[in-house]
Amino acid sequence: MNKKEAREIPKLKLFNTLTRKKEVFKPIKKNDVGIYTCGPTVYFYQHIGNMRCYLFEDILIRTLKFNGFNVKRVMNITDVGHLTSDADEGEDKIEKAAKKEGKKAEDIAEYYAGVFFDDVKKLNIIMPDVICKATDHIPEMIELVEKLIKKGYTYETDDGIYFDTSKFKDYGKLAKLNIEGLEAGIRTEMREKRNPTDFALWKFSEKPGLRQQEWSAFMKMGFPGWHIECSAMSMKYLGEHFDIHCGGIDHISVHHTNEIAQSESATGKKWVNYWLHSNFLTFKGSKISKSKGGLYTISELEKIGFEPLAFRYLCLTAHYRSELNFSLEDLKASQKTYNNLKNKIIEFRKHFKTERIDSDENKEKTEEYRIEFLEVINDNLNTPKALALVWDIIKDKNLSESEKYELLIEFDDVLGLDLASFEKEKIVVPSEIKKIAEERLKSRKEKNFKKSDELRVKLNKLGWKIDDVKDGYELSKV
Ligand SMILES: [Zn+2]
Repeated sequence: MNKKEAREIPKLKLFNTLTRKKEVFKPIKKNDVGIYTCGPTVYFYQHIGNMRCYLFEDILIRTLKFNGFNVKRVMNITDVGHLTSDADEGEDKIEKAAKKEGKKAEDIAEYYAGVFFDDVKKLNIIMPDVICKATDHIPEMIELVEKLIKKGYTYETDDGIYFDTSKFKDYGKLAKLNIEGLEAGIRTEMREKRNPTDFALWKFSEKPGLRQQEWSAFMKMGFPGWHIECSAMSMKYLGEHFDIHCGGIDHISVHHTNEIAQSESATGKKWVNYWLHSNFLTFKGSKISKSKGGLYTISELEKIGFEPLAFRYLCLTAHYRSELNFSLEDLKASQKTYNNLKNKIIEFRKHFKTERIDSDENKEKTEEYRIEFLEVINDNLNTPKALALVWDIIKDKNLSESEKYELLIEFDDVLGLDLASFEKEKIVVPSEIKKIAEERLKSRKEKNFKKSDELRVKLNKLGWKIDDVKDGYELSKV
């Protein structure tokens, strides 16, 4: 046996927030993996900071599949109960949006969920196996709250049923919270709460009949707390003990901490084995958040001439546990690199299967690359190194075009850059350019050639070439 064949297949290692360590991933059942990923609250558009997290989860799912696991992924849609403040205060985000837009709550949820899944498709994210809406699972949530009441973990106040966090020994283990250091009122408003970390499992409607979405339970009208939704739905579809739970790092200290407390108190056993969290997308040094404004959505990026997959490429250039500082300059560079990559693929494809060299030496080389790819991607999803390897392969003079093509298409199962679609570079025309081109077409039809020429020069200055064709025009980049 030669020494290269003896190289071990690298095992999948993932950084577990629960232990703060990189661990070899071992599923509960031999080959099947159950994974729950917190989905969007559908009261508004998801911005590119939100989408970064879904991209990280997609790389995780694809890597698990690449390693031969069968994956069942569940994602929730929060369409009720997520309040404007994490401290069980403020308005329900969906109700607030419905009021503002003068629409039905369910129409708001349906519309923004639709836009979200359009973006998911544009980013080539694999659709979850189960997508579950909170409002479709109210009985499961009530049942879970009842279980916690029976076990003595709860108390009732004027405005809801609360979880008593002092009764759950390991509260805060995920976030490594210093509970004693949390003074009342620092993390949450105390009101009638017994402990500052206590949270609502079920809220009572302030004025029954005023809310669009409320249900009769616990002798009153009310609605679920945000955290109970994820516990009830994940356990319904994945069982009381499952493998992986994901989300953004902003969910560690409240949302996920509370999910653990209520789930483990209800079942009396460990709930999830691996917790994975992605870091923020920052914008000029600060976290991108809806409340601060100045955020792009995927459609907005398209309008100014970027492909959604160029944003995917940009996200892969940073490790998911690092912050990614977003700028249009960097996105421009990613778009260029992504175009180059696709053009290489088109070039390599021409040779695919027409000039196969199956020498032993090359077989060894391609196998070596396969192991190297597994080594980097299985090392806690190191996508920046995986991309570097892609470019090493492209530049390797000892590989044939056909071999390069085969390797890159194989690795794209994980990277998800849609390299197997063979379209030439897709030209996305920004709306301002389209507007000038339309204006020019109009002046040509009106035989105002002076203006038409001026507009041609203007387009040129903006980096676009315009050609006249029958009844219209064609735009290309200069
Ligand atoms: Zn959640």
